[in-house]
Amino acid sequence: MTWALTPLTEEQRAIQSTAREFAQRELAPHADAWDRDAHFEPSIIGKLGALGFLGMMVPEEYGGLGLDSLTYLVALEEIAAVDASTAVLVSVHNSLPTQMIQRWGTEDQKERFLKPMARGELLGAFALSEPDSGSDAASVRTQANPDGDCWVLDGTKAWVTSGTHAGVVLAMARTDCSGDRRGARGIGAFIVTPDLHGYSVGKKEDKMGLRASPTVQLRFDNMRVPVENLLGEPDMGFFHAMQSLDTGRLGIAAQAVGIAQAALTHASRYAAERRQFGKPIKEFQAIQFRLADMATRVAASRALLHAAATARDRGQHITQFSAMAKLMASEAAMWVTTQAIQIFGGYGYVKDYPVERLFRDAKVTEIYEGTSEIQRIVIARELYSRGIWT
Ligand SMILES: Cc1cc2nc3c(=O)[nH]c(=O)nc-3n(C[C@H](O)[C@H](O)[C@H](O)COP(=O)(O)OP(=O)(O)OC[C@H]3O[C@@H](n4cnc5c(N)ncnc54)[C@H](O)[C@@H]3O)c2cc1C
Repeated sequence: MTWALTPLTEEQRAIQSTAREFAQRELAPHADAWDRDAHFEPSIIGKLGALGFLGMMVPEEYGGLGLDSLTYLVALEEIAAVDASTAVLVSVHNSLPTQMIQRWGTEDQKERFLKPMARGELLGAFALSEPDSGSDAASVRTQANPDGDCWVLDGTKAWVTSGTHAGVVLAMARTDCSGDRRGARGIGAFIVTPDLHGYSVGKKEDKMGLRASPTVQLRFDNMRVPVENLLGEPDMGFFHAMQSLDTGRLGIAAQAVGIAQAALTHASRYAAERRQFGKPIKEFQAIQFRLADMATRVAASRALLHAAATARDRGQHITQFSAMAKLMASEAAMWVTTQAIQIFGGYGYVKDYPVERLFRDAKVTEIYEGTSEIQRIVIARELYSRGIWT
């Protein structure tokens, strides 16, 4: 059972139930096989779109559900608890490319891209990382040169979630318009579509977890992007991407809470069923204490996430709180899934039960959209800049 300290409205509980039912009906029967075969099921995009789950925070005038971020994250947690691979597709699409176009796009860009994205007709991806540019995200090397009515992009993007099926990719490339050849100024955000000449999908990663989420390299080879596909100012793309990551990190935190909650639920049930020394193992205090600690970390992570989401919905600056929520929830997910395996004993170490997959899926939440080390840097920088540490 999932519970929250934050009181949810009737509408939020209804969307939560819809997400839970969708996950049980469409994802639960397949999640293990998709993980085993590293299979991405494309029909899931249309099913998510039909329920409005690919335009959750997009205003209704642009074809979305116009929900607040707390409602979106509550639904995302339900999906993650069943299939973390589908959750990252939903999270990236809703939090990054969609939000970027909604916030900085022209009316023409919203018409051509945001509306079909919100309806689930175009899947969105986010391409900031490169083979040699990860935590130091401002060091991107993909080059964008102006040429008449186009920008010509050359370079390789790495680790692009949903990159095999994306209809819209928000790609960051160096424009050098501000004369900054290395830093954060001088990077543009481009709306790239797979039909552009010079666009190709490269290596698909063979991952430890999230195996049903395709993660690929994208290659841009002398790719001509029409000027009307530049998002915002040509030297502000990096800042737009960073601001969107505030929401992205809330999505990853929700994914982590969902994974941790699922591990807790499976471990509690197993502790009631598994008998050793003539009684269910849940009667051993060592197991009860372990479950109590797991439940405490899940509740604390969810409470911080919901508080950060509520702050976003009030229009507050949330850089620090979204980094805190992501840091806490991802480390809790890794810890809770490790404890769940311990409660399952040897059966936790094999693929017969879902906790092995949850453990593998949890790990990446400490890595993407900024590693735990980067979250700590962001939090410390925010605290210093606000004079909290004098
Ligand atoms: C499954 C998956 C999906 C992804 N999806 C996307 C996506 O859709 N779009 C996208 O753009 N990217 C995506 N990424 C990339 C992800 O954001 C990067 O992997 C992440 O930012 C870390 O970069 P890196 O892997 O290059 O590690 P590195 O930056 O090389 O870091 C290696 C280690 O050094 C540490 N480190 C680095 N700098 C510092 C520092 N200053 N202080 C202390 N420690 C430091 C890191 O914390 C880490 O432990 C994805 C990654 C994965 C694994």
